[in-house]
Amino acid sequence: MNHMTEQELIAYRDGETRERERVAGHLNECEVCRHEMDRIEAVAAKKAEETGEVDHKAIANFSLYQQRMHRDFQSLLKTLHAEQTPRLIDHGQEWRAAVLLQDFAQRTNTDWKPSDSGFEFSPELLDKQLAFNKLWDRFGKNIRIFPTTKYQDERYSKKAL
Ligand SMILES: [Zn+2]
Repeated sequence: MNHMTEQELIAYRDGETRERERVAGHLNECEVCRHEMDRIEAVAAKKAEETGEVDHKAIANFSLYQQRMHRDFQSLLKTLHAEQTPRLIDHGQEWRAAVLLQDFAQRTNTDWKPSDSGFEFSPELLDKQLAFNKLWDRFGKNIRIFPTTKYQDERYSKKAL
C-alpha cells in the first residue's frame, strides 16, 4: 500500500476537495499516515500559536471542541440541577421551620438551640431572618394594596436591570 505524501495530507487537512475520499479512506486504514497527519496538525498548531495566525482548520477544530465542551457542560448542569432542586426545596422548608422554632423559643423563653433539633443553621443567621420577617410583619399592618396587575407593578423594573 502506498502511503500518502505530505503534500496530499496537507491538502486534505486544508480542506482541498480533490481526492478527499481516497485520502480519508487511506487514513482510516493506515496508522502510519494517521501519525503523520497528527504531526502535521501539531506543526500547524504550533505555527499558528507562534505567528498568532489561527487558520481556518484550527478554528474549525476549536469550535468543534468548544461545542463538545458546551454540550458536556449543559448535560452536567442538567444533572446537577435535577439533583439540587429537591434539595433546595428541602433546604427552604428546613430553614423556615428553624426560623419558626427560633421565634417560638424566644417568645416563650425556652432554652433551644437549632442543633437540638438537628438543624445545622446558626442561631445568628436565624435571628437575621427573624428580624427581616418582623419588619414585614410591622409593615404589613399598614400596607396599601394597589389595584394593579403584576404587569403594571413591574413596569419600570426592567430599567433596573
Ligand atoms: Zn499510509
